[in-house]
Amino acid sequence: MTTYSNADLHCHSTVSDGTLSPETLAQRAHANGVDLWSLTDHDELGGQARAAAAAAACGMGYLTGVEVSVTFIGKTVHIVGLGFDMLDPNLHKGLAQTRGGREQRAMEMAEGLAQVGIANAFEGALKFVGNPDLISRTHFARFLVESGVCSDTNEVFRRFLTEGKPGFVPHRWAKLSDAVHWILGAGGVAVIAHPGRYGFSPNEEYALFTEFKGFGGQGVEVVTGSHSPAEYETYADMAIEFGLAASRGSDFHSPDESRIDLGTLPHLPSKLSPVWDLLATRIQ
Ligand code: AMP
Ligand code: MN
Ligand code: MN
Ligand code: MN
Repeated sequence: MTTYSNADLHCHSTVSDGTLSPETLAQRAHANGVDLWSLTDHDELGGQARAAAAAAACGMGYLTGVEVSVTFIGKTVHIVGLGFDMLDPNLHKGLAQTRGGREQRAMEMAEGLAQVGIANAFEGALKFVGNPDLISRTHFARFLVESGVCSDTNEVFRRFLTEGKPGFVPHRWAKLSDAVHWILGAGGVAVIAHPGRYGFSPNEEYALFTEFKGFGGQGVEVVTGSHSPAEYETYADMAIEFGLAASRGSDFHSPDESRIDLGTLPHLPSKLSPVWDLLATRIQ
C-alpha cells in the first residue's frame, strides 16, 4: 500500500464557496507538498472531474469528495464523503435536493439584513457566487467585508450570520441517515466533518457519533483547520472510542481568509487509523 505523508481531504472551490478554481487549488496543494488530495465542495460534485484531472496532471493522489449539509437535532452538521463513484445517480439526486431552497433562504437573509440597514445584500452576495445553485452565507460575508460593514468574514458571522443574528435564516438540510446512505451507496466512506464546531453538549455529541456509526459512517475529522490542538486530542480519543478512522483536512476556502492553508496541518496522531487506508482502492 502506498503511504501518504501529507493528505489534505477537505477544501472548497468556486463550485461552492471557495475563491479558487479546482485547477488552481490542485496546483496550490501540490506546491504545498500534498500527496493525497480531495476537493469537497458543499452539496455539489460539479468540480470533481476537473479536480481529479488536475491532480493527475501534477502526479498527486486524488479521492473524490463532497461535504453534505445535514440537519441533526435542529443544528447544521457537515458530513464529508470520500472515494465515491462521482457518477452515482442516487448521490447526484440527493445532493440536488439538498441544494434546493438556497436561493429562497438567501432572499430571506437579505430581508433580515435590510431591516438592520444593510441594503441589496442579495445582489451583493450574488457578485461573489461562482455557482448560482450554491449561494451561501460565505458569499454574504464577502459582500459585507467588501462594503466595509465588517473588517473580516469572522466578524460578519459573529455579528450577522449565526443563530439569533439579523441575517440568520434556519434551514432544513438533508437527514443524517440520508447523507450517509448516499455516500455509502456510491461506494464511498462517510466522515463527520469538524465535530468541534457544532457546540453540542456531550450528550448531543454522543448521539451524533452513535447514530452516524449506526448508519454505517466510518470516519471523523480529527486534524482540521477548524480544530484547536486541544480538540485534536479530544477527537482522537473519540475516534478510538467509536472505532472510527481519522481524517485530516484544512477546509481551505481562500488565500484571503484567515484559515489554514492546504497541506500545512500537523500529522494525525500515530495511534489513529487514517481514513485513506480504508480507501486505498479508490485513490486515482
Ligand atoms: P451555509 O452552507 O450557507 O450555511 O454556509 C456555511 C459556510 O459558512 C461554511 O461552510 C463556512 O465556509 C462558512 N462559515 C460558517 N461559520 C463561519 C465563521 N464563523 N467564520 C467564517 N466562515 C464561516
Ligand atoms: Mn464553506
Ligand atoms: Mn463544514
Ligand atoms: Mn468545509
